[in-house]
Amino acid sequence: MSADKIIVIGHKSPDTDSICSALGYAAYKQAQGVNAEAGMTAEPNKETMFALEKFGVVAPELVTSVPAKQKLILVDHNEEGQAVDGMRDAEIVEIIDHHRLGGISTASPLFVHIEPVGCTSTIIANMFWKNDVKMSTSVAGLLLSAILSDTVLFKSPTCTQQDKDTAAKLAEEACVDLKEYGMAMLKAGAGIDGMTPEQVADTDLKAFEFGTVKAIISQISVMDPQEVLDIKADLLAAMKANCQAKGVELALLMVTDIMNESTHLLVAGEPQDLVAKAFAKPVEDSCVYLPGVMSRKKQIVPPMTEAAK
Ligand code: MG
Ligand code: MG
Ligand code: MG
Repeated sequence: MSADKIIVIGHKSPDTDSICSALGYAAYKQAQGVNAEAGMTAEPNKETMFALEKFGVVAPELVTSVPAKQKLILVDHNEEGQAVDGMRDAEIVEIIDHHRLGGISTASPLFVHIEPVGCTSTIIANMFWKNDVKMSTSVAGLLLSAILSDTVLFKSPTCTQQDKDTAAKLAEEACVDLKEYGMAMLKAGAGIDGMTPEQVADTDLKAFEFGTVKAIISQISVMDPQEVLDIKADLLAAMKANCQAKGVELALLMVTDIMNESTHLLVAGEPQDLVAKAFAKPVEDSCVYLPGVMSRKKQIVPPMTEAAK
């Protein structure tokens, strides 16, 4: 990418929102004459590939690290631990996000738009409409895909009325049946067929700090959690190896059951009693079963943060 180009980029272990909101926001900026281009920190997952193929969009350029002073727009994250390598010495010009503030500091003032909605793409779609920027059918499809993914077809507790209204409008613009397309997309992404235990343990991995405890939390959403639990021993080994490799003490893997709206939380490393305290349940056989839990952001991170106090 040329040096004067602004890179719009989501978090590491990109999910559908991180890639589709980067593509959507880059299109929004380009429509306003800004020299912006989408990037991605790693290859798209199966679900995101399904969305890109459905709407005939090429994946963004792979950007695994950025040089000093590179102008960046962060979408779908704002924490350094989740950002592309080199972010600390880059110039962040904008942040568009729907997560907690995670301790970032910048040299210069910047444009920040953070809202507690279910998806970054909800914010971006509404920026298009509010500012009368023409949205292509494919961008509408990508933004819709991100909302369906982040809200797990509106079932996640992070989902707001604004996400539902925005998705309905986007589905019309993208000419797809919302429920039918959403199920097909989630199905394409669910399941661990052809994945190694290491790849499963690395799915949608994010780094956090809970008090003094450095932790990583991954999440895999599936239709059939048993096929994941069947390889639990291998997953725990991969999670422990991750702790070593990433210099963290605790690794959690959310095995989220899309249909049953529940999560088996696998726990590797220490302190396990922090996890037990957070969810008021013992960690049994390296696992805590959490009915009704689907959201890392709303149902895992806050109790872990509270328990660490
Ligand atoms: Mg995300
Ligand atoms: Mg998101
Ligand atoms: Mg997500």
